[in-house]
Amino acid sequence: MECDKCDNEAVMHASYSGAHLCGTHLCLSVDKRVRRRIREDSLLSADSTPENPEKWVIGLSGGKDSVVLTHILDETFGNDPRVEMMALTIHEGIEGYRDASVEACVELAESLDMRHEMVSYEDEFGVRMDDVVEDDPENMAPCAYCGVFRRDLLEGYAEEFGADKLLTGHNLDDEAQTALMNILEGDIKQVAKHFDASLGSFDDRHDQRDFIPRAKPLRDIPEKEVALYAHIKELPAHITECPHASEAYRGEIQKLLWKLEENHPGTRHSIMSGYEELAALTAERYRGNDGADLNECEQCGSKTGSQICRKCRLIESINAV
Ligand code: SF4
Repeated sequence: MECDKCDNEAVMHASYSGAHLCGTHLCLSVDKRVRRRIREDSLLSADSTPENPEKWVIGLSGGKDSVVLTHILDETFGNDPRVEMMALTIHEGIEGYRDASVEACVELAESLDMRHEMVSYEDEFGVRMDDVVEDDPENMAPCAYCGVFRRDLLEGYAEEFGADKLLTGHNLDDEAQTALMNILEGDIKQVAKHFDASLGSFDDRHDQRDFIPRAKPLRDIPEKEVALYAHIKELPAHITECPHASEAYRGEIQKLLWKLEENHPGTRHSIMSGYEELAALTAERYRGNDGADLNECEQCGSKTGSQICRKCRLIESINAV
């Protein structure tokens, strides 16, 4: 099948739009959609100037999503004096997995001449995910520990580096899964938080108290197109899956969405457009009404609704084994 835009062979058919695109036109289309998302979300504040640039910290794991995001942001804003970008990599301590993806991060950051910092669970908390999985003191899935530790480091270091925004590589599939999980779990407050934390335009979002705002510029791009983009552009992305990947419920939702998308192309896009509107309304409803004033954790000083934050409680429990 030929590309709709030129005589070259198509490398993909997007059932949701009917488009057949060659490698070059697929990449152009991804670039265009990401830049439109950045504009529509007002990612770059109107107040940023060369004298007072915005600082963006990009969460760079070395996987295809964060590598593609970093590449497109560099192409778009690399020479823009109104933006300062840097990459932050978290090393979880997963043998044979993270070391290879860290290499991809270092290679990419060097090729873009971008500041790159790396922090590890081991240096910060004295734990490695491989050991946590083995001991499992809370009888939880590995990702439940890992997500708490990662969020803590991303937030804490973004703040330390003076970030105005924290950017992550979540794609359309990730976001549609999260949306469906929130709805199926009946967690309306979580829907509201999802909006203020990372959906919608910065013009409409309410600052999450004390947290650095997040942005997800790839959230319109299906996972498969992100992977093709990384492959076609020969970006140094690390593709292997984490050996502890274990979010069983998310996996079920992922399979359900694949099936729905196959039978009803465009399902992920329609979920997100309806969900975003719903999330904006629920955010409006719950703002300032969640009843939880944040304090500083007595042990590490990070923001928490209790006396001791979740991360410190998990570390205590791991160290007690
Ligand atoms: Fe951590 Fe789970 Fe991601 Fe592995 S898949 S890096 S355990 S969050």
